[in-house]
Amino acid sequence: MFDTIIVGAGFAGSVLAERLATQKNKRILVIDKRQHIGGNCYDCFDEQGVLIHKYGPHLFHTDNKPVFDYLSQFTQWQPYQHEVLAFIDGQKVPVPFNLNSLHSLLPKSLADSLELKLIERFGYGVKVPILELRDIDDKELKFLADFIYEKIFVNYTAKQWGKKPEDISPEVTGRVPVHISRDNRYFQDKYQAIPAQGYTKVFTNMLDHPNISLLLNTDFKDIFKIDFETGAMQFMNAEFNGQLIFTGLVDELFESRFGELPYRSLAFQFEHLAVDKFQEKTTINYPNDYDYTRITEFKHISQQAISGTSIVKEFPQDFERNNPQKNIPYYPIFTAENKEKLDRYLDFAEQFENITLVGRLAENRYYDMDDIVARALQVFEDKFAD
Ligand code: FAD
Ligand code: UDP
Repeated sequence: MFDTIIVGAGFAGSVLAERLATQKNKRILVIDKRQHIGGNCYDCFDEQGVLIHKYGPHLFHTDNKPVFDYLSQFTQWQPYQHEVLAFIDGQKVPVPFNLNSLHSLLPKSLADSLELKLIERFGYGVKVPILELRDIDDKELKFLADFIYEKIFVNYTAKQWGKKPEDISPEVTGRVPVHISRDNRYFQDKYQAIPAQGYTKVFTNMLDHPNISLLLNTDFKDIFKIDFETGAMQFMNAEFNGQLIFTGLVDELFESRFGELPYRSLAFQFEHLAVDKFQEKTTINYPNDYDYTRITEFKHISQQAISGTSIVKEFPQDFERNNPQKNIPYYPIFTAENKEKLDRYLDFAEQFENITLVGRLAENRYYDMDDIVARALQVFEDKFAD
């Protein structure tokens, strides 16, 4: 019936479904336990007509031209440059922390001297991860590093991860490095834009092919069985001899045989307000105040000319598999201990020629949208193109 069964209709699953159907004429079934396609990139109109991102704000940015060109087959784009402010000591300053943030928060003479030192030491335009800046041997720069660490990183990271910045992979805080620049944008990538008709439409276009069938509202565990001794697979109680592409939780696929991997979840609180604009920029971070990490206002992204506005507050929380309020694993937790466990799963998966793991959850990687599209295209080339 099907050559390939794909679990997950996010970017990982949808790119592979599209490639296999259009390039290899394979018959594909895409299964997702949600009622919709798009994975965490899903967007929809709320009751007041504002285009919201149901699983948190998604801003597309990439330096990868092949990825941008590939996605451009399925959408037109609306240019959009993301800016974030952080609420610090009663002021809203640009994040990533940059020279403008420095001058807003510190007295002029001190800010001037720190700016000179930063430029002398690193060069204008350079990005320095906070954990590297903290290691510096210069007394004044060390003062600045500690200041930024305390004001921007330590409490936000405690909320977001329940951990100190130095207790998670440096890759995490390295995503938001100190930027020795006056460029207030969150990203500097060459391509920054929002799909003109939203993200969900991109997925609709990708999956719109006679060879692709969709089975939503369905947990793969209920209809798919794998014998890990022999590698034999069953779909709906019948033998399945095709390929399984899995983009869900790797530990769940392998029935937690090496123990559960930890994830971080979020609770989103959406609000609609009877004002035209709620805040100055799309996202305001609250490192040191409130239980939420950030507020995002969607009209800045969708650029809709309608009255009223919709915002979302993000409350980080522990992931709990059996609690419907907390069972979405938004982020793998990136620690050395978890990496060891993950490697056991990935090694184990190697022996199954008919199973392919790809995706943020299946590979436990901090993939952005462009990263996972690039990864899925690469997996197609490496494993399925011949
Ligand atoms: P997902 O989108 O998570 O898709 C996996 C799918 O598998 C899900 O739909 C899930 O329901 C399904 N699934 C899992 N288990 C099962 C099962 N047992 N049975 C059936 N179906 C199953 N990236 C950016 O580039 N820019 C951003 O601004 C950005 N913002 C983000 C904000 C937040 C809060 C989060 C959490 C992520 C953000 N990302 C952003 C990252 C982006 O969401 C991911 O790169 C992308 O979603 C990864 O795609 P994926 O297919 O690997 O996973
Ligand atoms: N971070 C922080 N303060 C901020 C912004 C980010 O401490 O104001 C840290 C925090 O640990 C966060 C990480 O940097 O998890 C990565 O931030 P990013 O905005 O990339 O997170 P995402 O959008 O993926 O949630």
